[in-house]
Amino acid sequence: MSFIAEKFSEIAPSQTLAITAAAKKMRDEGQDVASFGAGEPDFDTPQHIKDACIEALQDGKTKYTPATGIPELKEAVAAKFLLENGLEYEESQISINCGAKHSCYNAILACCDPEDEVIIPAPYWTSYPEMVRLSGAEPYVVETKRENGWKLTADEFEEAISGRTRMLILNSPNNPTGSVYSKEELEALVEVAESEDIIILSDEIYEKLVYNDKKHVSTATVSEAAKNLTITINGLSKVYSMTGWRLGYTAAPPEIAKAIGIIQSHTTSNPTSFAQWGGIAALQGDQNMITDMVEEYDMRRQYMMSRLQGIKNVDVVEPEGAFYFLVDTTKIGLNSMNLTEKLLSRYLVAAVPGAAFGYDQSIRLSYATSLDIIKKGLDRFEEFCHAH
Ligand SMILES: *Cc1c(COP(=O)(O)O)cnc(C)c1O
Repeated sequence: MSFIAEKFSEIAPSQTLAITAAAKKMRDEGQDVASFGAGEPDFDTPQHIKDACIEALQDGKTKYTPATGIPELKEAVAAKFLLENGLEYEESQISINCGAKHSCYNAILACCDPEDEVIIPAPYWTSYPEMVRLSGAEPYVVETKRENGWKLTADEFEEAISGRTRMLILNSPNNPTGSVYSKEELEALVEVAESEDIIILSDEIYEKLVYNDKKHVSTATVSEAAKNLTITINGLSKVYSMTGWRLGYTAAPPEIAKAIGIIQSHTTSNPTSFAQWGGIAALQGDQNMITDMVEEYDMRRQYMMSRLQGIKNVDVVEPEGAFYFLVDTTKIGLNSMNLTEKLLSRYLVAAVPGAAFGYDQSIRLSYATSLDIIKKGLDRFEEFCHAH
């Protein structure tokens, strides 16, 4: 007899966190581990954001706020959508959530009944299928192809639809593949979604981290229909190095936004009051450090691309966004758990197993770490690949 709810029986702990913990333990024991495991920026939160938060604390902004966030931050988010994406939202369509992860979970809960299916293109961010299961709905995973840049095509989407399909989860720029959908690709997907009344959850947390002059296109902008069926999720964690602050936000069609507000009011209530004031400073303050960060990531990305192309037995697609490489290890022939364990224990390199992203013949290497560590880690990874 187990006291654990049946719906948890299939839910796995986050493997991205497990490998980071194992690497940390080895490092604490004095081993020189080169870690590609990071899922967060290696920069500190900018000072003016911290200052705004400290000021809010000193001012006594320490009490409950409206459940979906303070109006000032919602206004700043609405202004961001209008200015940067050309999207017009009423304040009532916007909610501030406890991180974009929370935004995703709220949106799934608001829209999906048990038995509903949610289409998730793989490789996917590790939490999507588990969040869908937690909601009682069922993930329907569609494997995308490396030759298509790991992007879901309209045909693949159409083929995956059943009478129970409720939602499609899109993530562009993508974690773990780094792929970025073009306007045309999104239009084709939206057309299918519109004809089948399928909601699109568009996770755009890596919006600002794009390279090669690639432009991020927000799904809701491709047509009026797109706006009516898209839930746009974004947040401050990745772009402003604010992972610990837990601030994400959602813009949704009115009916869905209302449901999200109700869910949040009965579960977490508001995101931390003083953190929200830091969030305003982030959105309204100097944006120049983003350019600097993107330049630094891009330098690392280009270095890794040139190195990885020269390594035997692995294949990569050039990532155009986020801060990851999904390295295809099919030719090595080990499953990703075995591969990453061996890589960590014998070569002192930490990477995340592709199994966590629904593609077992791969590992994810993050470049949210210094160039020194990247160089050292890739030297070792090269040795490993040549020995296999
Ligand atoms: C990091 C990440 C998030 C969550 O970010 P938080 O705001 O820290 O919750 C959401 N989606 C993807 C794809 C991510 O990589």
